[in-house]
Amino acid sequence: MPHRPIFLALAVLSLLASACSNPSASDKVLNLYTARHYDADLKLYDAFQKKTGIRVRWLEMAPDQLVERMKAEGTSSPADVILMADAGALWRAQSAGLFQPVVTPTLQARIPKALHDPTGLWWGFSRRARVIAYDRSKVKPQEVATYESLASPRFRDAVCVRSSDNVYNLSLMASFIEHWGHAKALQWAKGVVANFARPPQGGDIDEVRAVGAGACQVTLSNTYYYLRIAASPDTGDKATAAKVALSFPEQSAYGTHVNISGGGVATHAQHKAEAIRFLDFLASNEAQDIFAGANHEFPIVTGVVPPPDVAAISSFKADPMPVSVYGRRQAEAQEIYNQAGWR
Ligand code: FE
Repeated sequence: MPHRPIFLALAVLSLLASACSNPSASDKVLNLYTARHYDADLKLYDAFQKKTGIRVRWLEMAPDQLVERMKAEGTSSPADVILMADAGALWRAQSAGLFQPVVTPTLQARIPKALHDPTGLWWGFSRRARVIAYDRSKVKPQEVATYESLASPRFRDAVCVRSSDNVYNLSLMASFIEHWGHAKALQWAKGVVANFARPPQGGDIDEVRAVGAGACQVTLSNTYYYLRIAASPDTGDKATAAKVALSFPEQSAYGTHVNISGGGVATHAQHKAEAIRFLDFLASNEAQDIFAGANHEFPIVTGVVPPPDVAAISSFKADPMPVSVYGRRQAEAQEIYNQAGWR
């Protein structure tokens, strides 16, 4: 999903600015800085306002931009809640001191331990798996049963991927370093680079479409992007979904790489009570239904039944690794990609 036009961001900015200079405004508000980039989130904000009367004023930015902006704003930052689309990005915000710890009975009861910061700086609210999307006419499922397979000579000139500085790829590499050690992780990256069908480009959706168009046989994608293509009424997308299948790697080993989208309360939040209510709301069944129904993500709360397209790919073995590892290993992950020539 493309980022929204800058003028919208500017309009929201001026709203945030005027809110700061007008603390007597009687309506309850919450200022959200978000690096999630999904139209579906508007439904979350609407549902939250209907339920609580609290209006969400949001500003959408790329994760690094968000961190830099908040560092520059310092104690006068209007942000109450920060949302990110990856545990690695949450870690970047955490390292910059942008979160304050918040623990509520709801969050503790509903968010699994491995999917939030142990001290409550941030909490996961949805899950996504990073899987192999492959051309079902050229590739047998057993040929893509592991992440290692992408580095095999079988896929020479057949791999499409996005760039290595993408946080989804950094988190994936971080998990490999943790599982395999540095040397094997580097060897894997070199093997994948040797298999590139073309230089890294675009996002997951572009890469899945490239597989569908025959430019390559395999790629890496987050699950919800594939489901978004599959749910699209567009004829080209329908053809892509028919041609491309998903493999959940490492089912006979440690399980498929899973990441989270999540967030926490900003260090200098001026609407802290509203911010905490928003976090609790994101863990509610109602919000979990929106993550799954509108953006095809996996619910994070056990017992929430996702819609049929998400349910159909839900019964896989997930890597139980605590997602906080992804952030700690991020710099090393980028180093490995750089060394391998994966730009
Ligand atoms: Fe995404």
